Order: sequence, then structure tokens, then C-alpha cells
Amino acid sequence: MKFLSKILPIVFLAYACSGPGDSRLAADHVIYGGPIYTVGGEGTAEAVAIKADTILFVGSKSDAMSFVSDASNVIDLEGKTLIPGLVEGHAHIMGVGYNLLNVDLREAKSYNEVVAMVEERAKNTPKGEWILGRGWHQDKWDEQPESMMKGFPTHDLLSERVPDHPVWLRHASGHAALGNAKAMELASIDGNSPQPDGGEIFMGLNNQPTGIFNETAQGLVGSAIPQNTMESDRRALKLALQECFKNGIVALHNAGSGPNNIKLFKELAQKDELDLRLYVMLNGRDEELLDEYFSKGIEENLYNNQLTVRSVKLYADGALGSRGAWLLKEYHDAPGVHGHNVMKMEAIEEITARAYKAGFQVCIHAIGDRANREVLDIYERTFKLYPEDAPKDPRFRVEHAQHFHPDDIPRFSELGVIPAMQAIHMSSDRPWAIDRLGKERIEWGAYMWQDLLQSGARIVNGTDAPVEPINPFPSFYASVSRRTLKGTPEGGYEPLQKMTREQALRSYTLDGAYGAFLEEETGSIEVGKWADLVIIDRDIMTIDEDEILSTNVLLTMIGGEIVYQNME
Ligand SMILES: [Zn+2]
Repeated sequence: MKFLSKILPIVFLAYACSGPGDSRLAADHVIYGGPIYTVGGEGTAEAVAIKADTILFVGSKSDAMSFVSDASNVIDLEGKTLIPGLVEGHAHIMGVGYNLLNVDLREAKSYNEVVAMVEERAKNTPKGEWILGRGWHQDKWDEQPESMMKGFPTHDLLSERVPDHPVWLRHASGHAALGNAKAMELASIDGNSPQPDGGEIFMGLNNQPTGIFNETAQGLVGSAIPQNTMESDRRALKLALQECFKNGIVALHNAGSGPNNIKLFKELAQKDELDLRLYVMLNGRDEELLDEYFSKGIEENLYNNQLTVRSVKLYADGALGSRGAWLLKEYHDAPGVHGHNVMKMEAIEEITARAYKAGFQVCIHAIGDRANREVLDIYERTFKLYPEDAPKDPRFRVEHAQHFHPDDIPRFSELGVIPAMQAIHMSSDRPWAIDRLGKERIEWGAYMWQDLLQSGARIVNGTDAPVEPINPFPSFYASVSRRTLKGTPEGGYEPLQKMTREQALRSYTLDGAYGAFLEEETGSIEVGKWADLVIIDRDIMTIDEDEILSTNVLLTMIGGEIVYQNME
């Protein structure tokens, strides 16, 4: 692609000599007739021409029309808006797919509703077969159930209404899950079960399990659930891909993949059925997988630029909601509690060094200020320790990067570290996050987008789907408004940290591409880049903030190929 952009001036020279009848210059698509935001170059344009998988021309409509031939597909936007294809900077694509296969509990407004949804599914599921669900969150419920233990519901109602199927319902945070009696029976969990390291089986007053398992304790029941098969994975992945295209996502950074998933990605990519530009982070807990890749090296832009494997996902801490985020000072609402690391920091440092030497990017989950500091320290030491092995441009990342000590904010740009942040998390979490952190830490250290940008950092945006829906527009809205999806508070939380619309669009396009080393190839509408584009039904750069949430994708194009279309 870099090669192509270099030879383009020669193409134009040839054009000048040979005239518009030359079929080499006939565009496959010409788009005009509405606002076009290019992100790179001039910022806006009147028209775009596309040839094969590449952007051939960006500029005035009259010039673009000279590339039209009989075979060209001419798209008049009729006032609709064209933007670069969107980059989902942190998601779990198999989770997105399985969420579509499993019971989706995100919209449930009460525990009763959760139970009713599972009961409904049980009617069409053979007895004894597992029913899996994900996405419930008690803070999103309008009413709390009668029976609660440590802020979570108990399994009693679920077990009473769904007695014959083992049920396993993962919390929206991914850090806890609820099992019914049948599930616990199959997993041999009872009042005598020992507590695991790094997790907890919640026990009730009678010292019997309440059904809630957090952090590593989830594995106690999880291991009793039959493994996903390659066939169910394939079904889930295909659903997830459609979900991406429907939402204008052209590239996705998959935050942790095991060997089976990578095999599946390759299988689909090889058949040219992936279409999405998938950027894979290796699951850093899989030592064998790391050994394999660290010895064979990165895999870049395989199968017509659909698949890249060049990064490693690691975990420094947990989440704020379950007080698993690792803080420098105690939780505001839990004296003496600081959260904790979830992997040994020595192990993280060792893997980071090996990845660095092998040319892999490292992406570490860090939410609390302590975790963020530890990760930045590890990165800094790694860069200093191995100068002779240094890749020129490691672009190490911190996933989530939600809460910092103010001293650590400039370190991101100083070290060239990318904060991969999901603006929508601020919108969903900020109303209760203040309980965890208190006013001062929320104001000076949480979701610090503008401070990071001002210090020179490049933010990669996203949703952490399926934690949040993969729809990018609520996250774009959160980026610029810092409000909840209900529109509160009016002026936004900590409004000085809002992104401008230009910054927000960039975080979802060009800087998302930068986070995957693809900023020369995609992320903006510029000549020579891949034709990764999205048409949306409104101008998100100028409309009222509230209207952003209703944005619909009308067309998604990846490498010149239309993968989704919903235009009248
Ligand atoms: Zn994630």
C-alpha cells in the first residue's frame, strides 16, 4: 500500500496524457453529494473515487466525475454523510457472536425479567442442556430483588423457576457470574467448597453458596460447561461479523485470542469470508501460544489484509465495579480495600520483555491508578533494559486506562504508550464510579481524555463489546458529551475532559488504525489508502448532541467491497 501511494503521481501523469477513456482510471465507485469527512488531508472533500480496493481520488466533484465510466457505481449521498470506516479498538469478537447466540440480558430491567428471559429459553431447550446468558447488571435494574447478598442477587428465584437446566449468567462486567442450583450441582459446588485464589464463591447467611462467583471463582463452574465447538464458534463469528458491518466497523482489535480462535479466523480469511480487518491480541495467559508466536514472529496483513497477529493481551487488574481495580489509595467506599493485581507483575514484566524482543506489541488491561502506574513502570524499564533489541516503534498500549494519578498522565506520550479507552464506559460507569473513587480522584484522574490528548497521546476508542453494544455512536456521543445515555448531567461529567468531535472521530478512525500499525493503510479517506468507508444517515460532526445516538449506518465498504448496505 505504501508502494501504491508512491506510484500514484505517475498514474496521474499517465491520466493527463491518456484521458478519461483509459479503463485503468475508471473508478469502480464514485461517491459525492453530502458531507465527506476525510480525517486526514484537507479534512473534508466533495467527492471520492475508488478503484479496486483503493482510494483513487479525493477532491472536487467535477474532477471525480472524470473517473466515471459505464461500469462505475455512482453513489449520490443525497445529503447523507461519508466518513472513514470505523475502528473498534477493543472488543471480544467471539463474545459478541456468542452474545447473539446466547440469552442477551443487557436490556433486562429487573432480576425478575432476567429470570423470565431464562425461563423462556428453557422452554425450547432440552432438559439438562446448559443455558448461557450474559450482560446483566444489577445497577441497571429499576428495582432490586428482595434477596440480595453483598450487592448481588441470589440464585433462589432462578433455581426455583428453572430447576431442570443448568444456568450460567455472566455479569456485564465479565468479572462475576450467577449460577443456578443445577449448575452448582454439576460443578460440585456446595457450602464446603474451598475458596479459590483470586476469586470468591459468595456465601450466604447459612454458609451456602448464593450463586455468585467472582473473578477466578467463575472458572469453578465455567469448567463444567461443555466447551464451545468449532462449529458453534463459526456460527458465533459469522453473526459477529454481520454485527460489525451493520455498525460501520471495518477493523476490530480483538482483545485476547486463543489458538482455536486464531485457527478459525485464518480459516475464514483464507476463504475470503472474514472481510473485517481483524487485529489479534494473543491471549497472554496461554504460554504455549506465546512460545509459538515469539519464535515464529508476527503475522501481518494475511489473506488480502484481513488478519494481523502482532500483539499480546495481559491483565494487570480487575474492574472498578467489583473493586478489583488496583488503586494507590483505598477505595472511597471500602476502607482498607485497594483492589489487586490479577497476574503476577513479574510474569507480566517477563512476557513484556519477550514480546518486545520478538517485535510484538503489548496491550495490558489496567484500570486503577496503581495498575496504570505499574504498567507504565514496566514499559519504561523494558524500553531502557533492551535497547539493542528495540523495535523502533513498539506502540505498547494500556487497555481501558480509566484512572490515573495525575503525575502519570504525561507519561503516556513520553513513552509513546497508547491509551485504548472506551468512552462509553465513562457514560455507563461514572454515576457510580464516584462512590468507588470519591470526588477528588474522579475529577483529577478518571477518564482523562482531554488531558491525555493535550499531552500528545493518541487515544484508541471502542466499546469493549460485548461488555457494551458494539454500536460506535453511543461511544462517540459519550466522547463528546460525557453524559450518560439518558443525557445526564446536562453539561456532562467533568466537561473539561470532553473530546471535540474531530478528536472523537479521529480516535475511532485514524488513531484506531494507529493502534494497530495501520494508519498508513486505513483510518482516513486519502488517496492510496484502502477504500474502508462508511455512509451514515446524519452529519455527526454538526447535529445536536442528542441526535448522535440515533445515527444509523447505511453502507459499509471494506477494501472497495460493500459488506453492508441499507440505503433506500
Ligand atoms: Zn475487554
